[in-house]
Amino acid sequence: MDREQQRIEEDLRGIVSGEVLCGAASRSLYASDASVSEVWPLAVVRPRTTDDVAATVRWAAERQIPVHPRGAGSSVAGGSLGPGVVIDCGRFLRRILQTDGDEVRVQPGVVAAQLEEHLGRRTRSLGVDPANSGVTTVGGMIGRNSSGSRFPRYGAMSGRMISARVVLADGAILELVPTAPASASPASPGDNAAPAAMEADRLRQLASGVATILTSSRDLIAAAQPATRGTHGGYQLHDLLRTLDRDGLVDLPRLLCGADGTLGIVSEATLRTVPTDDATAVGLFLFDSLDRAAEAALRLRPLSPDACDLFDKRHLTLARSARPAFDQLIPSVADAGLLVEFSGDDEPAAAARFDEAARRLQGPRPLCIDVRRAEDAAEKAMLWELSRSVVATLHGVRGTIRPVPFLEDVVVPPEALPDFLRRLQAVLKQCDATAMLFAHAGHGQLHVRPYADPRDPEARTRLERLADAIYGDVVAVGGTIGAEQGLALSRTAFFATHFPELTGVFAAVKRVFDPLGTLNPGMIVGAPSVPAGWRPPLVSQPPPPPLPMLTWTVERLANEVDACNGCGACRSQSPSMRMCPMYRENPAEEASPRAKANLMASLLSGRLDPRSLGQDAVRDIADTCFNCHQCRTDCSAGVDIPAIVTELKAAHADINSLDLHAWLLSRVDTLSGLGGAVSPLANWAIANPQARWVMEKMLGVARGRKLPPFTGQQVIRWAARRGLTRPSRRSGPRVLYFLDTFARRHDLQLVKAFVAVLEHNGIGVFIDPRQVSAGMPLVAAGDVDAARRLARTNLRVLTEAVRLGYRIVATEPSAVTCIVHDYPLLLADDEMDRVVAATTDAATFLWELHREGRLRLDFQPLVTAGDVSQQPASRILYHAPCHARIGRDKSPAEHLLRLVPGLAIDTADRGCSGMAGTFGLSRRNYRTSLRVGLGLVSAMRSSGIEAGATECSGCRIQMEQGTSKPTVHPMKLLAKSYGLLAGPGPDCLDTLLTATSGPLTTS
Ligand SMILES: Cc1cc2nc3c(=O)[nH]c(=O)nc-3n(C[C@H](O)[C@H](O)[C@H](O)COP(=O)(O)OP(=O)(O)OC[C@H]3O[C@@H](n4cnc5c(N)ncnc54)[C@H](O)[C@@H]3O)c2cc1C
Ligand code: SF4
Ligand code: SF4
Repeated sequence: MDREQQRIEEDLRGIVSGEVLCGAASRSLYASDASVSEVWPLAVVRPRTTDDVAATVRWAAERQIPVHPRGAGSSVAGGSLGPGVVIDCGRFLRRILQTDGDEVRVQPGVVAAQLEEHLGRRTRSLGVDPANSGVTTVGGMIGRNSSGSRFPRYGAMSGRMISARVVLADGAILELVPTAPASASPASPGDNAAPAAMEADRLRQLASGVATILTSSRDLIAAAQPATRGTHGGYQLHDLLRTLDRDGLVDLPRLLCGADGTLGIVSEATLRTVPTDDATAVGLFLFDSLDRAAEAALRLRPLSPDACDLFDKRHLTLARSARPAFDQLIPSVADAGLLVEFSGDDEPAAAARFDEAARRLQGPRPLCIDVRRAEDAAEKAMLWELSRSVVATLHGVRGTIRPVPFLEDVVVPPEALPDFLRRLQAVLKQCDATAMLFAHAGHGQLHVRPYADPRDPEARTRLERLADAIYGDVVAVGGTIGAEQGLALSRTAFFATHFPELTGVFAAVKRVFDPLGTLNPGMIVGAPSVPAGWRPPLVSQPPPPPLPMLTWTVERLANEVDACNGCGACRSQSPSMRMCPMYRENPAEEASPRAKANLMASLLSGRLDPRSLGQDAVRDIADTCFNCHQCRTDCSAGVDIPAIVTELKAAHADINSLDLHAWLLSRVDTLSGLGGAVSPLANWAIANPQARWVMEKMLGVARGRKLPPFTGQQVIRWAARRGLTRPSRRSGPRVLYFLDTFARRHDLQLVKAFVAVLEHNGIGVFIDPRQVSAGMPLVAAGDVDAARRLARTNLRVLTEAVRLGYRIVATEPSAVTCIVHDYPLLLADDEMDRVVAATTDAATFLWELHREGRLRLDFQPLVTAGDVSQQPASRILYHAPCHARIGRDKSPAEHLLRLVPGLAIDTADRGCSGMAGTFGLSRRNYRTSLRVGLGLVSAMRSSGIEAGATECSGCRIQMEQGTSKPTVHPMKLLAKSYGLLAGPGPDCLDTLLTATSGPLTTS
């Protein structure tokens, strides 16, 4: 950080109670959003209060430094990017303040889905339904005047605004309400007037300023922003003119909607809510051409559907590949689709409206080739996925050339849609471009995404030309640009070219609020260039040494980084996803998965000093990832964030070496081996408070953490006695059991159980004693050299086994992840692909066996001892470990447990356990780990649950933390149900749950 930056940081720290970030690594995370732009801010402030916002704005105004409010940073037009101070309202201003009747008062950082959940409990809703509601914040929705598929019914955010507490350009704090303009210039209340009088005067001044502009530009506004359509690019002046004419008031809060933070920064808002939905009918119409789909949308308009979304062929193809259900539903001959929703007082009424629509499209001159009305709630949700998650998938298309969110957001009069689509196709052809298309056809809003490489300067020039041509056609049919996604960096300059008179009016409005132009300049009015700040190329210069540390080339690393489109879905708190446990616990930008991709992008592009790689700031950001891999599964682009993080950690470790505790904990297998060698002493030590205190100080292992007892060399000795340490002589299917640390060092019973289950199913088992631990803790710590050594040893053993026809199967999912995901990044080896293809986890292996009809099903009921007479089901809480969710089938162990009679399996996903291998063992992370796993641990404590089940040893430790209930590996339950484990019999679950592996120990 240079001295100027240091001074800024000190200045800002002195005036705000929130956080101030001026370091280059932190600023790099705020240089991008979901758009194609990159602009580095001078500083970032994360306010805790309205006063923090005001102090920052005042400080900036005095120095003529711009400020840029930010919510989730999911704008696809660069709305929150700028060279001044970014004010991140999404970190601390996240409270729902008051809910009263049909109103709710919120801070700007509240996420839409969080608000909907809150309102839903009161049978209310915001109504406005952006596709990314799990991410977008109320502040961003106001800034963007967001809307969604149900716009025809609920309109946009501007229809929800009642009042807003706003920080104005000079730092004044004002509650904006609809206000009558002063009829003549009233006397100013003077400097000593009461605050309320001063506030009222300021409101009147603003209202008068705006009213003057509205009345003097009445004809222009009416012509350029016809009231027949909902939203428009830029300030929604048509809305204000209507209210002024009707009520004599200037609706100042409404003016904030779509203003992109250029008129004031919202620190609180009161919003109008609506009753939750009536009954709905949802269906999908399919067409053999886009033209017919557009014509159908027009034909449905008189029926006033609540939503009418149009998909092109590419979108449908994407949907088919994303979900097998869509593959069955959508025939490949379909070139376009319309998702249509009708509401009604009850289901039959809604269905009748839908059926009328179907009659109109299927009548004597049928337009559609097929129609499918959803039968139930599950089917409705599935169809809605076309608009929701498939749009996210659209954002996630990978490759340097991909659909680019640049011209993106155009609105045409709905009746002009068929004509405009023809024009659009002609322009695309003329410019030799292809594009993806998704439209809210009911209100004529189109998302057009041309395929291009946005980091290629020539492609950008072509994109700009294409945008200009398309916008020309938009104007020709009476449309506008940048309504839902805004003008911001991507469209402000184009808007000025195509709507010069209206831009002049916008500039006048802006001057009323922000005469010095410090509030998010360059958005809506006054853009400096077209467009500001494209993202730079990533590999135009050598990578900063020592990158890359893994086997991939810098080009592949760059492609992986580039696959992150900044959509921000990894900031989601939605229970339907598991990513990102660390962000959920600490909702700060640096903890999000995309932060890691952005950080690496800045390093590769050279915008971040290469020396930062060795600095703590980079390591601190990388350390907010504990390698659970859930972003890789849930992110629609499947960005390999864990690999990017490994690069960052490995480079840092290479430059600085690991600190002692990280070094020791990454060698947990060695520590467990040493403990096993002196198991009586070690088992005494882990239960002794003084010894645990010493362990905490010396090894960094949290003293409050329950630890499993050591079994020494029992496993290998037992396997040798059973003749398992030599290749199996059985004919037929054979398995090399990869043990990893927990099974080998701590859980002989698990090894016995899995071997018994395999043998019971006629599978030969080989436990090669030369195998070593997989090395996941080393990978997670970034010690790739040590991990590579283990990988090399294991690869020799596994290659031999694979050549002999063995499958490699582990009871520990993280061992599988390490072999399948990390080994290819650690070692370049010709045999790697075969080993990876042969490796799987125990549950997946057995479930595949079952699907092939080869798993024995002679399971006997498992019930608790006390309940034998009445035979009620034993309630087991099954937790799918993160590393077991990476595969194609997200929960094979759950499917297997459902085969066991007598077990009632509770499988509601409570998110990550928070253990993440050795992460939760360490003193440094102990509390964070408990907070991440709180949902799961609380579920374990609930009275109906008798025991837990999970494949992961780390999750087991967490599930037993804070409860006396045991957690077992599903293989033990299977073995018990087969009658293969010692004990009074398969009907007695208690004996298993308190059997030899015993409870975990803590001091
Ligand atoms: C996958 C995906 C799907 C999307 N779907 C939709 C959709 O269906 N409908 C839709 O409308 N948009 C959609 N968007 C666009 C975008 O997410 C929304 O416009 C969203 O409302 C932006 O919210 P945010 O919290 O990310 O705000 P940001 O991107 O951080 O900011 C958006 C604008 O609001 C301003 N702003 C933020 N906070 C404040 C504040 N406190 N006071 C004043 N101004 C502020 C910012 O300066 C910026 O100009 C989508 C984007 C993605 C990536
Ligand atoms: S990591 Fe994935 S989910 Fe997160 S911003 Fe990038 S593309 Fe979106
Ligand atoms: S691997 Fe897990 S902790 Fe790391 S960024 Fe992804 S979801 Fe978050």
